[in-house]
Amino acid sequence: MLEKAIYVLKMIEDKGFKAYIVGGFVRDYILGIESNDIDITTNATPKELKEIFKNTLLLNDDYGSITVMKKNVRFEITTFRKEFKYLDNRRPEKVEYIDKLEDDIKRRDFTINTICMDSNGEVIDYLNGRRDLDKKVIKTVGNASDRFEEDCLRILRAVRFATNLNFKLSDEVVNAILEKKSLLKKLSYQRKKEELDKIFTSDRAMDGIKLLIDLGLDKVLELKNLNKVKCTDSLIGVWAVLDVLDIYPFSNHEKEMIEDVQKTLELNNKDPYTLYKYGLYINSVSGLIKGISKKEIASTYLELPITKRSDIKVSSEEIMEELNKEPGPYLKDIYKAIEKEILYNNLDNKKEDILNFCKENFS
Ligand code: ATP
Ligand code: MG
Repeated sequence: MLEKAIYVLKMIEDKGFKAYIVGGFVRDYILGIESNDIDITTNATPKELKEIFKNTLLLNDDYGSITVMKKNVRFEITTFRKEFKYLDNRRPEKVEYIDKLEDDIKRRDFTINTICMDSNGEVIDYLNGRRDLDKKVIKTVGNASDRFEEDCLRILRAVRFATNLNFKLSDEVVNAILEKKSLLKKLSYQRKKEELDKIFTSDRAMDGIKLLIDLGLDKVLELKNLNKVKCTDSLIGVWAVLDVLDIYPFSNHEKEMIEDVQKTLELNNKDPYTLYKYGLYINSVSGLIKGISKKEIASTYLELPITKRSDIKVSSEEIMEELNKEPGPYLKDIYKAIEKEILYNNLDNKKEDILNFCKENFS
């Protein structure tokens, strides 16, 4: 990864600009953690960067950064800048491109995120980020209250980094969060969810949840059930327990899964019909929440005589012919009855037996 990053730095330097790796990659590299993407900071403007990376440009946004795919790694390249006057406690009203790395570093959120690396692999650490990494502490660059007031997303980022890295929040950060947490009410639910997802999928998610509760962030974030979350092995399961489908944004697919998990929480996850109707995944998630082992649920599932409607050895045409009836909604009831009889082992999944069952019960 580092060689790939240095290759990209050199591409920028070859055109006469300065460029450094910054942020998550350097922080995680020093900690011995693998990164997925790499942030680069440079005095080249987005326009100049677009020239350099013409063929590998993914997208660029309005905030002076471009995204590049090089050697299968995603690079987020941002121009050195100063930010002015924040709107809605989230976005700077004005951004000014500058020429000095030292000044760019000052607008960043936490000291551990300000450490840079140059194309020789040398660490540049203007704000004692290394010291705070060693002390395992999250400290803001400058006054914590002011930095959270400017951009309240930083409150959730602080909790996220503390959770993922197993770091402590500095006393100043804790106090500033307590003071400024109500600003989070203004943050979009999409943004809140992105950070919460990262906390809930952390290996140390339970610690993150405890931290959110201790700081009183559960109330501000409208997560009234946060203290009911006992298992974080499934993100869908966590959101099912939180029960906030009406306020937080989810895709239709996520929504469907969350609703199904919620429904099966009330049911027996080893009941053959429940397993058939909702499937192994939904019942396993629901089982996780209730402390039922996945193995037990899976072994019951594997014994089911049928797992989907197409496994039934009779077609609707054959049923209609047997009963001498036209198509109609009655077929739905018949299928449900057949499914239950087969699943509870009262009926063999054989054409003749099923047609006999239909004749006896539905003609
Ligand atoms: P990761 O990529 O592992 O989530 P990261 O620290 O790299 O963590 P990014 O969101 O990729 O986080 O941001 C890159 C860098 O940009 C950060 O390390 C930090 O220096 C700066 N940064 C990001 N978001 C903010 C913010 N809201 N306020 C100030 N600086 C920020
Ligand atoms: Mg990053």
